[in-house]
Amino acid sequence: MGNDGLAMAASWYAATANAAPAWPALAGDAACDVAIIGGGATGLAAALHLAERGVAVALLEAGRIGWGASGRNGGQIIPGLRWGAHVIEARLGRERGGALYRLARSAVPLVAGLVARHGIDCDLALTGHLTTAQRPADLADFAAEAEAAARLGHDGLAVLDAAAMRAAVASPGHGGLLDPDGGHFHTLNYTLGLARAAASAGARLHEGSPALSLSRRSDGVLITTPAGRLRAANALLAGDALIGPLLPSAHARIMPVANYVVATEPLPDGGASLIPGNQAVSDNRFVVNYFRRTGDGRLLFGGGERYSPHPPADMAGFVRPYLERAFPMLAGMAITHAWGGLVSITRTRLPDLGRDGPIWWAHGYSGQGAVLSTLGGTLVAEAMLGPSAGFDLFASVAPPAFPGGQLLRAPLHVAGMLWYAMRDRVG
Ligand SMILES: Cc1cc2nc3c(=O)[nH]c(=O)nc-3n(C[C@H](O)[C@H](O)[C@H](O)COP(=O)(O)OP(=O)(O)OC[C@H]3O[C@@H](n4cnc5c(N)ncnc54)[C@H](O)[C@@H]3O)c2cc1C
Repeated sequence: MGNDGLAMAASWYAATANAAPAWPALAGDAACDVAIIGGGATGLAAALHLAERGVAVALLEAGRIGWGASGRNGGQIIPGLRWGAHVIEARLGRERGGALYRLARSAVPLVAGLVARHGIDCDLALTGHLTTAQRPADLADFAAEAEAAARLGHDGLAVLDAAAMRAAVASPGHGGLLDPDGGHFHTLNYTLGLARAAASAGARLHEGSPALSLSRRSDGVLITTPAGRLRAANALLAGDALIGPLLPSAHARIMPVANYVVATEPLPDGGASLIPGNQAVSDNRFVVNYFRRTGDGRLLFGGGERYSPHPPADMAGFVRPYLERAFPMLAGMAITHAWGGLVSITRTRLPDLGRDGPIWWAHGYSGQGAVLSTLGGTLVAEAMLGPSAGFDLFASVAPPAFPGGQLLRAPLHVAGMLWYAMRDRVG
């Protein structure tokens, strides 16, 4: 899938981005300890962690820093993994599952700590995350999830009945599940802040520097870009959905799915009557609707996925019906920004962290990578420096490749996704 139609310029994030320097393209021959491919939160968190520990790091970004999902996502901070605590416990057991659950949740304080330590101006609001119930029966599942979370070491989840949920979110629904540790942030400004911190710590950042090839050498790897060559002892693939087949075995474990987001014009009350507690909100449909208030008083709303490589001609028109179904009172409200991005999903919906000799990767956060990406990059960096129990734990649950190889996996998976999406509509 190409990047056409995913232009960063149209996003509300780009329109409200903090000033950021332009980083020079890689030119000529260079060498470093660790080469990182991808300037999103995964790559930048790894660069920061390594540079702060004296490792010589060079990061290659094909476009601009934050060009990918880290600069255009919904900004929803959803603690944990796509697997709820009850699924983790059932599949991995209380001990191993609990360790994974707590590790995944640690991404939130990790990001909050980096924001505080590096003074990153990114509207971070840890006001909670709400999941809305689509059916009354969902509340029993939410209660079971809260109990499982408590057994795995986190007892803060609260089930809201329909009346409490209506008070929290002015949208039709049957109740909800509140995770008080979630929230939202300006994801592009966070990513730009990470870049500034990594560069201050000594990482060399290169924009406009797509990695075109990656080959193994006796002493590590060699990466070529249009104007340069970079030798390194280790490489981290942090290009997520956009990485392309630099390492086919890792690429085969992720599948890009296009997702679209809009921002409304500023709301008269800044959205206070829609979501008084300013939480991030998403529903529990297979194709998720997600929304939140922004720092400048808009509603930022994501909804609808497309399994076609072609973006809709009218992205605002594509998302509007989902927005108006969630908030009928916003019918006809002006949408000022609409953009798309590629989410990379895995077969199990768990992230894929792994290593093959000098080549490491972290990707496939399956729609829940706004803060997990920082954890993924940090854990790979940690593992490059010595034993990392966190990296080993994620690597031990790494997802398998999609069946069908490079040519068949997309059509097969798309057929499955369409079936689930249809079931959502009739369910
Ligand atoms: C529309 C959308 C909404 C989302 N909403 C949420 C949300 O609300 N909450 C949540 O938790 N998650 C959300 N996600 C998922 C989340 O954004 C991602 O999981 C996360 O940002 C991934 O970060 P990353 O650094 O791994 O990848 P990215 O941020 O995509 O960064 C990868 C970078 O690598 C670069 N690159 C790729 N290939 C090469 C190459 N060969 N050479 C050089 N550079 C290369 C790309 O240009 C890109 O900048 C959303 C994703 C999308 C697309």
